[in-house]
Amino acid sequence: MARTTTQQTTPGTPSVLWFRRDLRLGDNPALLEAAADGPVLPLFVLDPALWGPAGPARRAYLGASLRALDGSLREHGGRLSVVRGDPVRRVVLAAREVGAERVHVAADYAPYGHRRDQAVEEALAEHGIELVRTGSPYAVAPGRVTNGSGAPYKVYSPFQRAWAEHGWRGPADDPRDVDWLHLDRDTTDVPDPRLPADLELPEAGEAVARRRWAEFLDRVGDYDGERDRPDLDTTSRMSVHLKWGEIHPRTLLADLARLRSDGAATYRKELAWREFFADVLFARPETAREYLRPEYARMRYDEPDDRLEAWREGRTGFPVVDAGMRQLRGEGWMHNRVRMVVASFLVKDLHLEWQHGARHFMHWLADADLASNQQNWQWAAGSGVDAAPYFRVFNPTSQGRKFDPRGTYVRRWVPELADVADPHDPSPEDREAAGYPAPMVDHAAERREALDRWEQIR
Ligand code: FAD
Repeated sequence: MARTTTQQTTPGTPSVLWFRRDLRLGDNPALLEAAADGPVLPLFVLDPALWGPAGPARRAYLGASLRALDGSLREHGGRLSVVRGDPVRRVVLAAREVGAERVHVAADYAPYGHRRDQAVEEALAEHGIELVRTGSPYAVAPGRVTNGSGAPYKVYSPFQRAWAEHGWRGPADDPRDVDWLHLDRDTTDVPDPRLPADLELPEAGEAVARRRWAEFLDRVGDYDGERDRPDLDTTSRMSVHLKWGEIHPRTLLADLARLRSDGAATYRKELAWREFFADVLFARPETAREYLRPEYARMRYDEPDDRLEAWREGRTGFPVVDAGMRQLRGEGWMHNRVRMVVASFLVKDLHLEWQHGARHFMHWLADADLASNQQNWQWAAGSGVDAAPYFRVFNPTSQGRKFDPRGTYVRRWVPELADVADPHDPSPEDREAAGYPAPMVDHAAERREALDRWEQIR
């Protein structure tokens, strides 16, 4: 074990702060708990089970975020110890190396993280070391908000009301004078994968998250009216920072509570969706893969073929769908309205199962979050809690016209349509001249087909 500071050592027992989805120092209750024990080893484990399947956006963003965290620790006289391997082995080894009696974490409620933490807890216990969970990535931990009979909510609105009534703590204090430890043979060398040339990710880290949040707060009043407009691009873009815990929703909620605008109230309800879906996944972990409403598994779906590839690559011939799919690969992010449109298109126009789309999103989104992603996909497929009614089929052309009225969004992401007269429904001549494909399906016919298939399972 080594100490990074030259100051006098803190009395007390060393402990480990195992970072996972909480890559920040401010408003971090687990850090305060660890610091109260004595000197602290800040640790991150690159877990092949999570790192392996992650796509380039997630890997690159995580790498950047870890470097930012290491930078913040260095400003406070510490540094981040990064190790690779199975957390069950790695966390135990690290804790023993520094003589820790406790390993502090923010609780993880997603299926893999929950199982992993139980396994780590057991392995630590064999050495007399305790795993201490303090806080979570949510304002209210999944499983806490229940209905009158103690069961999880299945509908968003009553959940949202009960969640707001339950309330949450204010942001935690900043840590002071922590005596940091690091591992002797550690590496702070976080892999930096080569990004596809046309993928541009946002800057990572706690300071960036706070700065972007402060900028957004100045315009949150407009959020209510503009959040559905991909062309205006005025949403907060906090999803990636929330995903990695560079900022905690409690911090956002405390700022929103000081404002009275409709925009602030709507934003709070959007955060409640994030909490709702985490709650649903915690109650029904199998719904990360399986239909939440089992009758939807009986519906007739098509086998994936080159139409799935055309959807992935943004070559469907439906401009707003293609714009969204190209934005996903260009930024590791897609506007929420467009996520809904492309998801509906995959399930109801191409008749493919939602899991194909969800997997592609998980691969490319920098904000990929199992709870929000899978449950939103189930919502779009009609099979989730409080899902969009199946008979409501988005028309991609009219969605484009409504939410991107001047075609700015389509022109940006489908540049071959930049100069056509009607970018949402280019004429066959314009398509040909632009080298842009004809619509790959007849939407009206596929809508009828989707409803026929649905009738069979009703
Ligand atoms: P803002 O409009 O500024 O919203 C603020 C915050 O509220 C978001 O950062 C997010 O934390 C939360 N939020 C807003 N809408 C939703 C929602 N529908 N569900 C859950 N939380 C919400 N979000 C993810 O964070 N990760 C995902 O993997 C993900 N996959 C999605 C897949 C599909 C098919 C759909 C329809 C939505 C998905 N979302 C996902 C939800 C939503 O699209 C994004 O949270 C949002 O677009 C992020 O941009 P923003 O931060 O600018 O959003």
